[in-house]
Amino acid sequence: MPALEVSEQRAARQRAVTARAVASADALWARVDGRLIRASWQQVAEQMFAVLVAAQQASAGGAQDYVAAAVLAAGAAPDPAGELNVAAFAGLAADGRDLRSLLELPSITAVTDVAAGLPADLALQRGRSQLLRTVTSEVTDAGRVASGAGIVADRRCTGYVRVVGGRGCARCIILAGQVYGSATAFDRHPNCQCIHEPTVRGRRGAHLEPRRYFDSLSLSEQRRRFGEKGAQAIRDGADIGQVVNARRKGRLYTTADGVKATREGTTKRGTFYRRERARAIAAGRVPADIGRRFQLRSARLMPEEIYRLAATRDEAIELLRRYAYLI
Ligand SMILES: [Zn+2]
Repeated sequence: MPALEVSEQRAARQRAVTARAVASADALWARVDGRLIRASWQQVAEQMFAVLVAAQQASAGGAQDYVAAAVLAAGAAPDPAGELNVAAFAGLAADGRDLRSLLELPSITAVTDVAAGLPADLALQRGRSQLLRTVTSEVTDAGRVASGAGIVADRRCTGYVRVVGGRGCARCIILAGQVYGSATAFDRHPNCQCIHEPTVRGRRGAHLEPRRYFDSLSLSEQRRRFGEKGAQAIRDGADIGQVVNARRKGRLYTTADGVKATREGTTKRGTFYRRERARAIAAGRVPADIGRRFQLRSARLMPEEIYRLAATRDEAIELLRRYAYLI
């Protein structure tokens, strides 16, 4: 089986295991009575725990076979140092917290909300979201931790690349295809469904590169995940990483002239800083050996601003280049 298919199958299986657990959790939460939140939750809490542990085991299950199949697909012979103990990946949260107390939190949230004056149905809604998020994270994490262990245990594996699973967010998409050492922890966000794809010596894996992944999305999905103008910039050839990082939390600001700009890439090692310096040197405005004494004078415009300012597509592309989205 081609490597890409192997990892896509694993991702699809993991999504199905998670979706089943989430559906069960939802059904159990529906039994919570808004007037007796804690007591009614207690009646189903043990059942919820059992569902979650079983789902974690199912999620961890198949990790070893998956790693072996991926190694084979990459043209190498698997060499596992032992057999993964699937049960060891269930019963605890990925960060080591106690699963039972983690499962108490949604009902505590709901009770606290009601005490703070929120209507019971809204409080239950919030509790429900928290429960479903917890179940999603703990089930997918069990599978990821097991895959990570399977990669470490197989001497043929040099590490892994990230594969976007499910409805990947923009940040996951730009990390897709990055190569990590086998001991590097998998960085994830709530509801992340991305998986490991094992790599072997001389092979980088068959994952979809961010740009190909982007191209595989429908126009409306592109807009949903990257913003309307961000998606347009990428279609116009802008670098996905530059577009996504520019929008990162804490980087956006509005200049005194009301222009939308980003601080991303503006430090002395940033892409935009270095390109602006090269431009200034080429234009003879600063000496060639100015180095880090160069002072950035212009704000780095956001793609939104670029499309607002540009009269034609050629101009927009020129500006995307100028502001280091096209590199
Ligand atoms: Zn992800």
